[in-house]
Amino acid sequence: MERLYPRFIIIHHTAGHDVPALEIDAYHARRGFGMVMAEPKRLVEEYAERGFERAEGGVVIHIGYHYLIRADGSVEKGRPDFSQGAHCSSSGMNFKSLGVALTGNFDSVDNPDGGKGHPEPTAAQMKSLRNLLDYLADIYQIPGSGIIRHRDVAGAATRCPGDRFAL
Ligand SMILES: [Zn+2]
Repeated sequence: MERLYPRFIIIHHTAGHDVPALEIDAYHARRGFGMVMAEPKRLVEEYAERGFERAEGGVVIHIGYHYLIRADGSVEKGRPDFSQGAHCSSSGMNFKSLGVALTGNFDSVDNPDGGKGHPEPTAAQMKSLRNLLDYLADIYQIPGSGIIRHRDVAGAATRCPGDRFAL
């Protein structure tokens, strides 16, 4: 497996309800995303204990994001930082970025009445997001210009993470 060295961080909303990473994992499995993590063994066991599917020599991880931030501000790990994501195919971003997603649907067109998830980021989500971005930018030495919304990526035909999201 080719290791990812992140140079960008892409911010998403899940466009849906506040659900755990494992539920997003099942959803992304149906879309055909997925990678097998065979090592490090300690991390494999950690994911297996969280409920990720065991496979020959490791665990299968379908969730395309590296991090998921829940409405209550808790941060759940998706893919390990060292593996390619499946969250933004435009501009080759899956090969050079970390994907961070907030649960909810922050788009006023797609989700005018909140029926598809909470309609704007919670204060707890934004606090956790800022802490996470500071942490990741620090360890990977990513400049502020490298922290972008999905919709800002060249070639990405999306409104993600919605017009109600502002950094
Ligand atoms: Zn997105």
